[in-house]
Amino acid sequence: MKPILPGSAIGVLGSGQLGRMFAIAARRMGYRVHTLSPDEDTPTGQVADLEINAPYEDLDAIAKFASGVSVVTFEFENVPAATAAAAERCAPVRPAGHILHTTQHRLREKAFLSNAGLPLTPFRRITSLEDLAQAAAEIGLPAILKTADFGYDGKGQHRITSTADFPAAWKTVGQAESVLEALVDFEREISVVAARSADGAFIHYGAIENQHRNGILHTSFAPARVPDSVTCAAVEIARTVLETLNVVGVLCVEFFVTKTGALLINELAPRPHNSGHFTVDANITSQFEQQLRAVCGLPLGSPAQLSPAAMINLLGDQWADGEPNWAAATAISNVKLHLYGKLAPRPGRKMGHLTALAPNFEEALSAASLAFEAL
Ligand code: AMP
Repeated sequence: MKPILPGSAIGVLGSGQLGRMFAIAARRMGYRVHTLSPDEDTPTGQVADLEINAPYEDLDAIAKFASGVSVVTFEFENVPAATAAAAERCAPVRPAGHILHTTQHRLREKAFLSNAGLPLTPFRRITSLEDLAQAAAEIGLPAILKTADFGYDGKGQHRITSTADFPAAWKTVGQAESVLEALVDFEREISVVAARSADGAFIHYGAIENQHRNGILHTSFAPARVPDSVTCAAVEIARTVLETLNVVGVLCVEFFVTKTGALLINELAPRPHNSGHFTVDANITSQFEQQLRAVCGLPLGSPAQLSPAAMINLLGDQWADGEPNWAAATAISNVKLHLYGKLAPRPGRKMGHLTALAPNFEEALSAASLAFEAL
């Protein structure tokens, strides 16, 4: 693959914070960035060279957008398959549209993982209330019903503890095709963020530990508190996923670690991931720069982590009593503040994050928590 060199324009489908951090990495290396999404004055658009405002279904706009760049990548994986196909007719799309197609539907993703022989939470396909009753009898309760088309951040999910919950759960998923998963009584959650280049080179950021609140990521820190054997097994699973899907770009595998130390894959994200945001401050090459290098056909950079790190997400809830106290949070000198330029701080909306660096993860976590409390 002939490398796409600095000075070229890169197209980003989607315009949220992932695109923003990608664009910052790309512009730092002298690339131009074009972004397309249905929104205006977006986190990505604010730092891009060109912000195009069009629906993903406008295939003429997509073709024009893709014709104006050397490669198209995405930051929003729910881009419709027809959109990725229209872009692919005009420019290389990396990771390829077939990867989006697999990972934007829970059942297709689970079928792929299970065909690859990878460990999954027990699940059943649900298309009716009757299916739900039968599946619950088979896999047992408690369980979680999730929409098959990807919701994210815990949206479109209903926890079921008794048969009385069935109608409400079926309503939550819009009475549409969905997946019933056994509820995993996990010890902890970890993720592996990894990148792969067109010539098959592979890098990863080790095991990152994640804590969620209300189904939304709250805290990540690295390295995770797991034995090396668990990190190795998780990295090998990630390698298999990237190789089997022939990913050129970044992909994150989210796992449950059970109380016996076994790994179960929760889900895949074919892009940089919230749990890898600390790499912007703590690693030689961030996950966003790796995405850039991979999609441009440049060699991948060293993923080495220079310091233990902890990250805490800032949701719109933080604005409930007015503007957060940025001065107080930035007074903690080993904490870095990242804000995404979003105008409306709605509850549950990811507005920014804090990353703390310290000699060990406990100190990093406590500095990030102090800054978070000071807001
Ligand atoms: P998801 O959007 O599917 O990644 O779910 C968000 C979060 O909900 C996960 O990171 C877990 O904390 C929790 N969760 C989702 N599915 C399960 C499950 N099958 N068992 C236990 N917890 C789950």
